[in-house]
Amino acid sequence: MKCKLCLRKVDLLKKSHIIPDFMHKEIFDEKHRMIKFTTQTPNSETSVPSSEYESNVLCKKCDNEVIGNLETYVSRVLFGGRVRVATKNYIKPDGLEFTQVSGLDYKKFKLFLLSLLWRASISSRSFFGNVNLGPYEDEIREMILKGDPFMSGDFPCIITSYRKHNLPKEIVAEPKKIRLNTNIGYNFLIGGFMYIFKIIKNDKTKWILEAAVNKNGEVKIIHTPKKQAADLLAGYFGVRFEDHPDYKD
Ligand SMILES: [Zn+2]
Repeated sequence: MKCKLCLRKVDLLKKSHIIPDFMHKEIFDEKHRMIKFTTQTPNSETSVPSSEYESNVLCKKCDNEVIGNLETYVSRVLFGGRVRVATKNYIKPDGLEFTQVSGLDYKKFKLFLLSLLWRASISSRSFFGNVNLGPYEDEIREMILKGDPFMSGDFPCIITSYRKHNLPKEIVAEPKKIRLNTNIGYNFLIGGFMYIFKIIKNDKTKWILEAAVNKNGEVKIIHTPKKQAADLLAGYFGVRFEDHPDYKD
């Protein structure tokens, strides 16, 4: 069988993760230090699709080196330590709060995000059934393989967070297909962050270009207000978490 990334006919791995574990196990706290958060109900771990791996899709080199290097970089950004990034919090006059992260490696950060989208697209697991990049799948494959992240307006990803609120964060939801004006998009809800991919090349939308990771190594993480985040979770799971005693402020 052929590796889906390098297209070589070589032995393929039995297990390739679609969503890396670190994205929903250990992430930023509000002060952007690193924390390891514990799930309130440890047994619910099994409901998190950390076991969402795929067999026979990637060769060892592509999984461990090509995608592995992107994962190592981003996990170090999230865990601090060897990768130094600066974060600064802002509140706009309209009340919108965001954290600007600077000092990122644009190429690695962007390609990591795209690798998540691409892996979901090539996956045959029903959990990722909504994600189908069509003709862009091969284009994004080449970007990852060649290490070319293109411009920030090419397949931009907006990141929002509700991690500052007392709401469940140990959640990975099925990615959803959405409409962003006239374009297709995909929402990935993982570990208290929402990654919103817009499937477009050379996007000119001002706020998207301002928020998505850019060549200067900056990204803005938008903080979702609690009510809106609770509505979002209710939309996914049919549960009003903010009514639960564990999630009262
Ligand atoms: Zn390969």
